[in-house]
Amino acid sequence: MKVKTPVYKKQRLTAEVVDLSYQGNGVVKVDHYPIFVPNTLPGEKVEIVVTKVTRNFAWGKLTKLIEKSPDRVSLDDMRYLQTGIAPLGNLKYEAQLRFKQHQIQELLEKAHLDNLQVAPTMGMEKPYGYRNKAQVPVKLVKGRLETGFYKRGSHDLVPIENFLIQDPVIDQTITTVRDILRKYRIQPYDEESGRGCLRTIMVRRGYYSHEVMVVLISKTKQIPHVDDITREIVAQVPELKSLVHNVNSKRTNKLLGDVNHTLWGQPTINDQLLGIDFTISPLSFYQVNPQQTERLYQTAIENAGLDGSQTVIDAYCGIGTISLAVAKHAKKVYGVEIVPAAIQDAKKNAQKNGITNIEFVVGKAEEQMAKWQAAGLKPDVLIVDPPRKGLGEELIEATGQMKPAKVIYVSCNPATLVRDIQRFMEQGYHVTKPIQPVDQFPQTTHVESVTVLERTGE
Ligand code: SAH
Repeated sequence: MKVKTPVYKKQRLTAEVVDLSYQGNGVVKVDHYPIFVPNTLPGEKVEIVVTKVTRNFAWGKLTKLIEKSPDRVSLDDMRYLQTGIAPLGNLKYEAQLRFKQHQIQELLEKAHLDNLQVAPTMGMEKPYGYRNKAQVPVKLVKGRLETGFYKRGSHDLVPIENFLIQDPVIDQTITTVRDILRKYRIQPYDEESGRGCLRTIMVRRGYYSHEVMVVLISKTKQIPHVDDITREIVAQVPELKSLVHNVNSKRTNKLLGDVNHTLWGQPTINDQLLGIDFTISPLSFYQVNPQQTERLYQTAIENAGLDGSQTVIDAYCGIGTISLAVAKHAKKVYGVEIVPAAIQDAKKNAQKNGITNIEFVVGKAEEQMAKWQAAGLKPDVLIVDPPRKGLGEELIEATGQMKPAKVIYVSCNPATLVRDIQRFMEQGYHVTKPIQPVDQFPQTTHVESVTVLERTGE
């Protein structure tokens, strides 16, 4: 059935941009029907051409910027928008922070929770060069080995040297490694034919320790000239502490395989968060913006109101970053996490820091909560930091049974946060402080926040 849409392909329009989508694209409306136009901002008058039409929305391309937004910053390099490295790179930082605050407000309004306050987003002083980790695909482009980033929604590599939001030492390291790989004529892996050797370069650098880890991820078990390549990387990357070869022979989108060989130095690097030492291996999850992670956790800890007498559960604990930071201020901490390797790291990290009032369990948070409840555990504070899909309903129900006085909700997705707040309200909790967004990913559309929920009436 053919549906009549208010616009057609190749149509040219002059319009005003009325909104900014969650992906950071400007929104033009024709009879309530949205057209998404990359690189346009609310308030701008634009000329566009419609490039794609679907039943519920269309895409357009900017052909002329008639009136500029005062919030626009000039971005010389459009590749940052095209690749999704910095989808908000054309927006002034203060406006980015307002956009993130506003996104939570809007979702609350839609859920009829507009009585809840959202505080201004905590931003960074220097909102660039913050990432402590890079994973960069290696591809053959016009016959040459290139490193860069994929164009949004594709596997077309755009060669890039300055990644804008990564630690500049990491950018430098990637270029150095790229040049060495070129010198030894290493073949990039080709997804279509399944041929070639090198897939990805991963680089991490400790924010406090400055220790650098380079991981070469290959399709093949061997990398040709690996001894020469190792010698040159060691000679040219001054802060190198760990050089690892990871083999990922599967035809998959997954980045890393399960097997690591240390080519030189240590198998891991170290860094600190809130004064606690962490060991980071190639496969560990570790927060990518250390400065803002400290502020995020500090906010969560302050809001938990700990004085050393409380029992705390950290669900979704990963390698125990929040648990270990909280342990100093609590009587006992319980952490649960679904990935066994992360729990192994969490236990090692506890040991390394001499922290003993802590117990880590492998499991699904929702199931483990029910088990703890059955075993009679009575937490005072529950901290949750779930992935984008938010909390399992059973976890919220178990919380209603266990009745911790406070729940601190660290969220990376405002949509599931708002849904879960509603569910917590059904269990006798309500939000007692303005929701605090903390900008963990400047120049991108990600929104992180801390919400405090408390029990009432008992
Ligand atoms: N708080 C940690 C990790 C947060 S990321 C940190 O800051 O480092 C969310 C974590 O939840 C991931 O480690 C993921 O493996 C874990 N996870 C996902 N689903 C889960 C579930 N159902 N139960 C427990 N953990 C889960």
